[in-house]
Amino acid sequence: MIDNLRQIFSFLNDSCNAQSITAVLEEVFPLNAIYIYDSTTDSLRDFSKSWMFIKSKELNSIFRQFGVQKYIKGKIKSYYALFNNNQIIGMLEFSEHLHSRLLDFLELASFCISLKIQNLILAERMQKNIDFHDSMKNIAKIIETQYEINYIVPIIGEMVDKFVSDHLVYVFINNELVWPSACKDEKIFELIKLLNNKSEYILTPDKKIGLFPLISENKLLGCIVTKSTDNVLSEKEIEYLEQLSSQAATTINRANVYAEILKHATLDALTGFYNRRQLEERIKQEISGAKRQKRNLCAIMTDIDFFKSVNDTYGHAVGDLVLKTVSHVIRGQLREYDVAGRYGGEEFVILLPYTKLEEAKMVAERLRSAVEHKRIDISKLNSEKENISVTISLGVAQYSPNETDLIINADKALYKAKETGRNKVVINENI
Ligand code: GH3
Ligand code: MG
Ligand code: MG
Repeated sequence: MIDNLRQIFSFLNDSCNAQSITAVLEEVFPLNAIYIYDSTTDSLRDFSKSWMFIKSKELNSIFRQFGVQKYIKGKIKSYYALFNNNQIIGMLEFSEHLHSRLLDFLELASFCISLKIQNLILAERMQKNIDFHDSMKNIAKIIETQYEINYIVPIIGEMVDKFVSDHLVYVFINNELVWPSACKDEKIFELIKLLNNKSEYILTPDKKIGLFPLISENKLLGCIVTKSTDNVLSEKEIEYLEQLSSQAATTINRANVYAEILKHATLDALTGFYNRRQLEERIKQEISGAKRQKRNLCAIMTDIDFFKSVNDTYGHAVGDLVLKTVSHVIRGQLREYDVAGRYGGEEFVILLPYTKLEEAKMVAERLRSAVEHKRIDISKLNSEKENISVTISLGVAQYSPNETDLIINADKALYKAKETGRNKVVINENI
């Protein structure tokens, strides 16, 4: 027996996870399962099956009968208590009743089994600590190097997800779900409405849903939500999630500030189109993309007709409103990946990637017609007239590897459109 004991000690010593501990014990006993008591949820969990919750009332009631006696016989199965420092930590389930020799053996071996299991649980917790500190380090790294919000959010989501892997994780920015792509729980949306820029974390009474606000510089930016059907959040996890949220909020705030700065540096304030400098950059990129991948690319150059007289007749403020409205109408007619930029005063350049000349001509015609039919409400700026409309002229050109002056060609076509009557589309090919 001592030899057996020594052997089991040595095997257990070499085991480093729940599966190998279970396997060692299965060699010696008719073992069915190892159940460990989880005090935070006050229930039994299956040690070798990823800590699955044991809902069976029968098993939970058997577990509660352990006290003076360490061995309980069921009808067919039997159970042996696992103690650590006089405290019951779980039980072994056997597929049959144990004969007395095995029971004697267990009397001695159960100490070392309990100890090993306890150590493993501690090691798992420590690993979780290490994971947490790694996450924090990663977030710190992201803060220093990444400013792109679309890049940052999934990383934060995945980190939290890894940290509380037995929970579902959602990231909300400004009350909108941004990671992952769907959340079906209406309750979460309701809870989010309760948050403000002074909020602490919110935990539902059953502790299964946690909301951790993302607050930075006194602004509520969003929140991280964790949800589980089985597990509650432990105090330690809550503490970590609070720290993680605070770090994440700083990162997201930085990204927002950066996006704002970038917007000012690249977009034209009046029209929201790319400014001239950024437009030149995009023209270069699109041309080199079209060249490399041998794909179609067209450009439209457009200019408002008689715009000077709009300014002269109704004033500069109305002129500005017209510019803003025309650019808005144009944007509304384009695909997401079309590029629109303000080339000069009331001249716009539109790049149409993946587009043949014929299609570009149709787009240009659509733009012309949409602007022509737009009634621009100027009543707030001018007491005499309710609304006005303007027209645009457009020049269209196609990129070809031999013909590099795409924009100049579009401009030539525009000039032709102006010369031959305005409010029309001219294609560079036909000049
Ligand atoms: P055309 O049909 O030949 O294009 O006639 P046009 O009157 O539009 O002539 P042109 O393009 O030369 O005039 C452009 C005018 O646009 C002159 C300038 O005062 C005005 N403009 C340029 N930028 C702005 C702006 O940001 N706001 C306003 N209100 N006017 C602008
Ligand atoms: Mg003009
Ligand atoms: Mg002009």
